[in-house]
Amino acid sequence: MNIYEYQGKALLRSFGVPVPHGYPAGDVNEARAAAAKLPGPLYMVKSQIRAGGRGIGRFKELRPDAMGGVRIASSPEEVGEHAAEMLGNTLVTAQTGPGGEPVNRLYIEEGVEIDRELYLSAVVDPESGQVAFVVSTDGGADIEKVARETPRKILTVAVDPLSGVLPQQGRSIAGMLGLGGDQAVQAASLIPKLYAAFIAKDMALLELNPLIVSKSGELQCLDAKIGFDPHALRRHPDIVALESNA
Ligand code: ADP
Ligand code: MG
Repeated sequence: MNIYEYQGKALLRSFGVPVPHGYPAGDVNEARAAAAKLPGPLYMVKSQIRAGGRGIGRFKELRPDAMGGVRIASSPEEVGEHAAEMLGNTLVTAQTGPGGEPVNRLYIEEGVEIDRELYLSAVVDPESGQVAFVVSTDGGADIEKVARETPRKILTVAVDPLSGVLPQQGRSIAGMLGLGGDQAVQAASLIPKLYAAFIAKDMALLELNPLIVSKSGELQCLDAKIGFDPHALRRHPDIVALESNA
């Protein structure tokens, strides 16, 4: 079972993971007010559904040339206009199936100027039971397509549960992401935090697509898709509460 992006980002933030500032909003006024609390000058209006591919998704009720489920705005007023167009409508993406998913909540987030989009996820290797990081410099795009067409661009690093993430593994993942200097240092500090969150919450999937390098040189998680093994949830009433929050 997946949780929403805004819930996943709040969870990651509590583990010290860098994510942009943002606020969930359930109506147009809330969306405008959320934007007014952000520094600007760019704002993202992001549909909260439990599926990816939102940016290039389409709203059933809108004209086919209308913008998708993740939009950029340059003022709180414009955020309100997008919110009015998106809320209550049905977003169809490659991951929702043809029926789509209703958008009843938006996440209003600081717009970050992106230098590079990377891919980083953590999964449980079904054979070894170990957590493995899956890494690619081809972020933002459709990772399944990358896996199909250029599998050599996807690398994995397995973590021994007894030792946790070794410093050398953090450095090696940074290298796989093509990061050097200060960004490599940021990546090496990010990886153990992601691992700690993954283990503490019994995650089944933690996917950051994209993890980005901003124009100002900061590593940030711009998207977060988090899934849980339903069998592990008995131990995590906090996660069950998130999941039942429709
Ligand atoms: P999805 O994968 O469901 O389409 P994302 O959260 O990945 O949704 O958003 C789609 C794209 O929108 C990202 O790949 C990124 O290019 C852009 N984007 C998302 N969030 C931000 C942000 N806070 N600032 C700038 N660009 C963003
Ligand atoms: Mg994404």
